[in-house]
Amino acid sequence: MTSTANKSGAWILTVGDELLRGEIVDSNKSFFSERLLRLDVECTRHITVADDADAISEVLREAASRARVVVISGGLGPTRDDITTRVAAKTFGRTLVRDEEVLEGIRAFFLRFGREMAANNAKQADFPEAAEILPNPLGTAPGFVIEVEGTWLFFTPGVPRELYRMVDEEILPRLQSRFSRTAVVRAALLRTFGMGESTLDRELSDLAQDDSSITLGFRTQFPDNLVRVVVRAENEDDAKEKLQRVVGQIHERLGPMVLSEDERPMEAVVGELLAEQNLTVALAESCTGGLLSHRLTEVPGSSRYLIQSIVAYADEAKIRELGVDPALLKAEGAVSAPVALAMAEGVRQRSGADFGISTTGIAGPGGGTDEKPVGTVFVALSTATKSDVRKYELRFDRVRNKELTTQLALDFIRRTILGMELPSEDLLRPTGKRGGAH
Ligand code: ATP
Ligand code: MG
Repeated sequence: MTSTANKSGAWILTVGDELLRGEIVDSNKSFFSERLLRLDVECTRHITVADDADAISEVLREAASRARVVVISGGLGPTRDDITTRVAAKTFGRTLVRDEEVLEGIRAFFLRFGREMAANNAKQADFPEAAEILPNPLGTAPGFVIEVEGTWLFFTPGVPRELYRMVDEEILPRLQSRFSRTAVVRAALLRTFGMGESTLDRELSDLAQDDSSITLGFRTQFPDNLVRVVVRAENEDDAKEKLQRVVGQIHERLGPMVLSEDERPMEAVVGELLAEQNLTVALAESCTGGLLSHRLTEVPGSSRYLIQSIVAYADEAKIRELGVDPALLKAEGAVSAPVALAMAEGVRQRSGADFGISTTGIAGPGGGTDEKPVGTVFVALSTATKSDVRKYELRFDRVRNKELTTQLALDFIRRTILGMELPSEDLLRPTGKRGGAH
């Protein structure tokens, strides 16, 4: 007798030696999990196996006996190490059946590129008997689904863009009709800057405390922190309303610390603000060595607002390129508030931009003094009507000190445009896990 009573959740299996060797990042797993979550199908296990028949067979058998749904990626290709289909057929005692229509499709796929189909591509038209074929409009290897004792096993190609489409167009609709749960799940992701992970958790945790249908998750993407909100409700409208309410509460509590609701990074948010307001910027970078200008120019359309960037590392360059007073440099040192201000003013005046931004600091690991330890950084912003400078004491390594400095500079622009206060120094402390955080 077939029973699914003792089976639950979804298992995700990825196949490939290169995944186990760490040569590529297993992004398929997180994609599957995220999509399953949308249907409220709980993913209970992630497994990766080598391109090895016994290993694949063993996990397939276990997965089929314990999960309701199994999603497998990889090993559907034409090469010798692509053995998933053959192993699946053998494991579940099915013969391989060649599908003539699929074979024709593969042949046609090659002809479109003016090529003959190679003999080994034919095996991509073989499927375990009773499999339902899942079309792959982006590649040669179709996927397929088989049912084993009430468990669905979906086989998909390893190539991310091929499987993304197959999941969205073929797999999710099938799962949806089978697992038509009463619950609707909706999620949002908020990108924040200016508060440590543990502080965020403390500030927000009560929002989900008495309501098991709301889940908050925190994740760091240095120097930002991401807050994930997942809500469940009985229908679409309630889910939307609940999500909106929780997201609204987070905005209320965090104010300008929320950068975006769609994962857009700081440089994109700042770029959009500048473009909207028809404002231009010019940069004078010392300790960030061009990273600030790199980040701004990562955003398409940045030519609308970035006028120029000067990397002035040596004192002479600050004098020659930015017009910083040599006497000021001598008296205050290059890493100082007055020099940061002079750099920002210099680049603004020389470029004619609305905003001049400068960075100067000691990124480390060497070069610190008692008075100006490693991580001492100044960021200045100059406009036609006022100039302002901030001092920070960063406590990370060289690379992250540079990254954080560019983030502070961008946030300076963002908050100036929005007319908001600059953040407290909370973010400058390493977060809870390493001690340090309050
Ligand atoms: P192909 O027909 O290209 O051989 P396939 O179904 O046999 O496809 P694999 O050979 O396992 O799949 O993987 C093809 C490519 O897809 C890999 O080289 C890798 O770049 C990518 N890939 C495979 N598995 C994953 C994964 N889990 N996460 C991210 N990328 C992956
Ligand atoms: Mg392959």
